[in-house]
Amino acid sequence: MSVPDKQELIELFEYARPRVIQSMELRHCPHAGFYNPVDERCNFCHQGMECIWMNQNDELVDLEQKSLEELKQQLLIAVDFVDSSLSPHHLSRRKCQCDNCNWLRKVQETLARLS
Ligand SMILES: [Zn+2]
Repeated sequence: MSVPDKQELIELFEYARPRVIQSMELRHCPHAGFYNPVDERCNFCHQGMECIWMNQNDELVDLEQKSLEELKQQLLIAVDFVDSSLSPHHLSRRKCQCDNCNWLRKVQETLARLS
């Protein structure tokens, strides 16, 4: 797999990060949404897996080091987060032109092209 493919996927992460953070309820989080394996509060947190995702994919992580398969996997997880934070209004996605729906379409197109 060539590097340009990876670069294309990594660009999609840029958009995903703030969306994933937005989909979290951070008022009570002591770590601003970043999973901390040594804080036991994180183990009992009612939030989903978004913080773990952020921990593995934030801008401090060198995504270039991940394999193409790994990048695809992580993107699909992000798609789930964004998808589940959208209201039913967005479900007819072909018509919806909001940023989220445009991004979801772009991820799907890119993954389909690279697979
Ligand atoms: Zn939409």
